[in-house]
Amino acid sequence: MEIPVFELQRPFESGVTGPDELGDAAWWFVFQGDRLLLQREGGEFAPPAMRRIEMLGVEVISRHYLGQLDGRHCYGVDAAGAEPPPGLEPRHLFGLGERMDQDLYLLAGRTFQILEWDRKHRFCGRCGTATEYRRNERARRCPQCELTVFPRLTPAMMALVRRDRQILLARSPRFPKGFYSVLAGFAEPGETMEACVRREVREEVSLEVENIRYFGSQPWPFPHSLMMAYTCDYAGGELRVDDDELEHADWFEPEALPPVPGEMSIAGHLIRWFVREVTGR
Ligand SMILES: [Zn+2]
Repeated sequence: MEIPVFELQRPFESGVTGPDELGDAAWWFVFQGDRLLLQREGGEFAPPAMRRIEMLGVEVISRHYLGQLDGRHCYGVDAAGAEPPPGLEPRHLFGLGERMDQDLYLLAGRTFQILEWDRKHRFCGRCGTATEYRRNERARRCPQCELTVFPRLTPAMMALVRRDRQILLARSPRFPKGFYSVLAGFAEPGETMEACVRREVREEVSLEVENIRYFGSQPWPFPHSLMMAYTCDYAGGELRVDDDELEHADWFEPEALPPVPGEMSIAGHLIRWFVREVTGR
């Protein structure tokens, strides 16, 4: 099985402690709220590259060293305010994937996950004391009770259910009009990913599945998921849609697919894998 790639393509050395002083320009992934500040270069967007964040003229709430991409230092920054500095455009991450260099887009997603975690753990969840950022590891620690919190990741699954030449696709009321995708859901405490696949398929469309096989994964920073994709075979039951979760679900043949996700999502890779398997194209 072909495993799709949602990994950094250029060499990347992850780190938590940056250099004392920057000799060269660094990439700065600066978020104001949930919007990334970008420069437009032709039809593409890129984060600003400079030696000092102060040159940007934003008020820095927190700064997080990410590591080196192909020898260039990278930082994530949480910036105050809603007005972008001159020359920069604020953009939501969602939908940016096709308009940015893939490595820079992945690092922007990584930054967003780190900032979301950092913003939401300023105070200890156990005793309410203000937490402190650790210098030598990506963690916040409570000075009172020593609770340490690391960036949170929420495992989620995506399942392509197959029945001979057909796949099951569903649409959520949140999707754009006419748009379909494979089933997805979050793992519950105590569950394996395989059990999560079986439960979600059962809950959402009342079907049983078998032959659950891992396909690949994708960091999904909306806001802090790791999406794991699986394929499985229909094993029984009659299609019955859970109205609370889905608007519609049905079996589709590869020649008659509705609009589905594209290259930037692992759902798109899953669906294309199925089409190739069935049609040889
Ligand atoms: Zn505490």
